[in-house]
Amino acid sequence: MTSLNLSPLLSLPIFLLGAIVGSFLNVCIVRIPKGGSVVHPPSHCPGCKTAIRFYDNIPLLSYIALLGRCRACGEHISPRYFIVELLMASLAVILYYQFSFSLAFLVSFVFVAALIVISFIDLDVRIVPDVISLPGIIAGLLFSVVARYGINDPFELIPSPLNAIIGVLVGGGFLLALAWVYEAFTGVEGMGGGDIKLLAMIGAFLGWTSIPFTLLFASLTGSVIGIGFMIAKGVGRRFALPFAPFLCLGALLYLFFGNELIQFYLPER
Ligand SMILES: [Zn+2]
Repeated sequence: MTSLNLSPLLSLPIFLLGAIVGSFLNVCIVRIPKGGSVVHPPSHCPGCKTAIRFYDNIPLLSYIALLGRCRACGEHISPRYFIVELLMASLAVILYYQFSFSLAFLVSFVFVAALIVISFIDLDVRIVPDVISLPGIIAGLLFSVVARYGINDPFELIPSPLNAIIGVLVGGGFLLALAWVYEAFTGVEGMGGGDIKLLAMIGAFLGWTSIPFTLLFASLTGSVIGIGFMIAKGVGRRFALPFAPFLCLGALLYLFFGNELIQFYLPER
């Protein structure tokens, strides 16, 4: 582990940067499932279509100032906007304290942003968008090449290109096989194709060693919460729980604690 050159004074600008990026992620979460452009048209209220003024579009602050309502029509604004901005802002600061300004910071920042967009779209409309996961696979592989042949990664976060490729194959292939077996036995489509591409993306960014942990974590927490939900709400067995947020949370834990976690199942490493 290298000693970090950190400046606590930078926490605030990094928090603000994260909040601004979070604001853009909100636009992606709303517009990607509709197939629309994420830059045009400018933000507008989904209720009354009034264009949102710049001073009502300030990350975090505007939501608080407007008490979660549209200035023009008073329509309730989803707290998701605030949550996503706060989440990205907080994670940006945490990543800075973990990786300072480094290639690992940049890579994990991009990765975390992708995980947030995918999680909230899946929660919202039960889709894992290909437009994030497929370019994500390419990005993860490219970063591994940059770390191997360009900028050194002293944090050993970024896998070697070979590890990243195996990660894509293990993440994608293993789940594909599992989904095929499940469908063959039950006749019901189990895990969606989107979850499989997401796990391939996680493998590209974190290497194949992240896959067993991520999958185990997601399956366990997903089952517990799914069963709890079914008991509480009395919904049937066919209730579809979004799986991507659990995979993303597992990947996030691996991002921060992977080097420790790996000792459990690969002690010889
Ligand atoms: Zn409105």
